[in-house]
Amino acid sequence: MNPASAESGYQYPLALPILDPAQVQPVLAELIRRDGWSRGALLDFQRQRLARALRHAAAASPYYRQAIGAVANMLRLLRMLGTAPQARTLGIGAPTPLHITNRAFAELRGGRSDVPRLSVLTPLADVVAALNEYQPENIFTYPSYIRRLAEEQDAGRLAIRPARFVSTAEVLTEHVRLLAGQTWGAQVLNGYGTTEAGMLGTECDLAAGVHIVEDMVVFESVDEASRPVVPGTPGAKVLVTTLYDSPLRLIRYEISDVVTLEADPCPCGRPYRRLASIDGRREDTLTLLAPDGRQLRLHAGRLRAPLDGVPGLRQYQLVQRSADSILVRIMVRPGADSGAVAASTRSAVEHEIRRVGVRLGGLAIHVVDTIERRGGAAKECLVGAV
Ligand SMILES: [Zn+2]
Repeated sequence: MNPASAESGYQYPLALPILDPAQVQPVLAELIRRDGWSRGALLDFQRQRLARALRHAAAASPYYRQAIGAVANMLRLLRMLGTAPQARTLGIGAPTPLHITNRAFAELRGGRSDVPRLSVLTPLADVVAALNEYQPENIFTYPSYIRRLAEEQDAGRLAIRPARFVSTAEVLTEHVRLLAGQTWGAQVLNGYGTTEAGMLGTECDLAAGVHIVEDMVVFESVDEASRPVVPGTPGAKVLVTTLYDSPLRLIRYEISDVVTLEADPCPCGRPYRRLASIDGRREDTLTLLAPDGRQLRLHAGRLRAPLDGVPGLRQYQLVQRSADSILVRIMVRPGADSGAVAASTRSAVEHEIRRVGVRLGGLAIHVVDTIERRGGAAKECLVGAV
């Protein structure tokens, strides 16, 4: 072959060698021989080669080396939660691998092929059937989804006996812990991760605050001006620096989570700092008015605990309509009296609003059929658009 391209005048630096037919012939014969394989022999061969390709990737590629670290961290956190290595564990999280709950939950299967693949957008009847069949011992999911599963167990359609739930992606309230205790006698432990930085920590089996894995990350809770915030005080945001090998290094990477650090170490003896609370995203803030007319920022998470306790209330969303009026959209459980649920919702919100000293001119409660979820993770969206 002529390496020169006549039109462009470009000269390829190297001519491609013509392969020696004597070298090609044996490989060709082998490939033609495979055309006569059975389908079973073909699939066996494919599995062997795939395992070899993955071993090579793990040894040679930075991405796979990093994934090994992240997966090992995930398995370490499972131990920290108190789960046995062979326990039946599954996750119900985001429908897309773009979100951490989807990728991390895939690793929870630990190579078992019998674990159902479920997301929070899987039809509920399918989730119930799969859980009844699999009988998981540990379930990782959103706290709003734990409430849905409790409804199903209560209605007699779901019949599982999990020992433990791990709450991820959304803010965990005491109400959800109590609910899981009453419904299943199960413990709910809090987990904390971000899609950008991976799993940042979990609670240990003492359920006394998320332990941040400080061998993997440097974790700072800071104010609006990025100055450190003392334990016991909520920050305005979080800065994360990753310490493990990764193609994408994060250095003081900003995450808009509002968290409060705990001053003392956990009685379990692990060396990590704990979070006293994770209140949610900074975006979920309402700007209302104090009685003297000053602006008062109220994190919508403050209303989560009172609303989680309203009987018959399935999901809710706050909408700021003006400086002194809010709308609460609510979804009501089937069979519940929507008028009574709306009235209880109103009194729960009014009580909390009075407690924090907000002057509210208008409070509307709308019963709706659906409330949108947030992005690819399909998380609860606590504050919605007008
Ligand atoms: Zn601990």
